[in-house]
Amino acid sequence: MRVTVVGAGVVGLTCAVRLLEEGHRVDVLARDLPLETTSAVAAATWYPYRAFPFDRVLAWSARSYDAFGALAGVDGAGVTMRSGIEVFAAPQDEPWWRSAVPALDHVPPPVGYGDAWTFEAPVVEMPLYLTWLASRVDELGGTITRLNLSALPVGPDVVVNCAGIGARLLASDSSVTPVRGQVVYLSQVGLERWYLDSSADLTYVVPRAHDIVVGGTAQEGEWSRTPSADDAEAILARARRLVPELEAAAVLRHRVGLRPARPQVRVERAGDVVHCYGHGGAGVTLSWGTADEVVDLVGPA
Ligand SMILES: Cc1cc2nc3c(=O)[nH]c(=O)nc-3n(C[C@H](O)[C@H](O)[C@H](O)COP(=O)(O)OP(=O)(O)OC[C@H]3O[C@@H](n4cnc5c(N)ncnc54)[C@H](O)[C@@H]3O)c2cc1C
Repeated sequence: MRVTVVGAGVVGLTCAVRLLEEGHRVDVLARDLPLETTSAVAAATWYPYRAFPFDRVLAWSARSYDAFGALAGVDGAGVTMRSGIEVFAAPQDEPWWRSAVPALDHVPPPVGYGDAWTFEAPVVEMPLYLTWLASRVDELGGTITRLNLSALPVGPDVVVNCAGIGARLLASDSSVTPVRGQVVYLSQVGLERWYLDSSADLTYVVPRAHDIVVGGTAQEGEWSRTPSADDAEAILARARRLVPELEAAAVLRHRVGLRPARPQVRVERAGDVVHCYGHGGAGVTLSWGTADEVVDLVGPA
């Protein structure tokens, strides 16, 4: 079948790879090429954050956890399994997504917190990973072309709509709204573990091979992609409180991305269009699970 995928973020590229693997002919069209997308700004750890409904998100997250586990052994994919610690103000029961990870253990919380647990999660270096996904599309015979669309294309057998926040226009779906996320990149100071505090003031610290990504913000309905100095200062203060070693790290640069939030992630077929958007704060975490479902909805090659 001739399939056009709209969108070259992590959701579109993963769908394209899975569809090509199933024998479809796939062309990706996108206004922003992979390294220019929101996906390129993601921190990115596996974590089912701000995506709904929980039952489908759990299944998609579990599938992606396994897929990223396998990619951790692949040269150049930019995926590493790392232990980390999530902290809380007060004692916690097990998380709703517990069954998606092989082990999760409560540990003594750092000073100033009421509870903490540790688990191993995939850390995905998005610029490397998106480049690797794009090269997989190419190797498997697909194409990626820059094109700013004012409507979904008509003509291919099936169109897969992975436009992220662009689905507001392309699917006339005003329930997709931006949740603005700002990050600061710091120099690596020998940090191995990730840290997360997902309370009202979302704070995370994600070590990568050559730098550390710290965040964040989750500003609902905010469209500005310009980094704010006030946000950066608040992010750094919270991150340094959580991980005091960061005092020694130099600030390298600042980025902003707009998470495509929706009351529920949309993975559904409507005629010749398969919609796959609204992954909120978990597009990386859900990407392999939702791509498998898209393959089922597209049907046999
Ligand atoms: C600061 C930050 C940190 C994050 N951290 C994590 C994390 O740790 N883990 C995690 O799982 N997720 C994380 N996320 C969320 C994740 O980044 C998103 O859920 C994910 O990027 C959504 O991917 P997408 O492919 O749907 O959208 P995008 O990456 O936005 O891609 C959309 C694509 O559609 C194209 N498009 C849109 N409109 C049109 C049009 N009219 N014509 C042609 N093309 C169009 C765009 O050009 C682009 O290519 C984070 C997000 C931010 C901002």
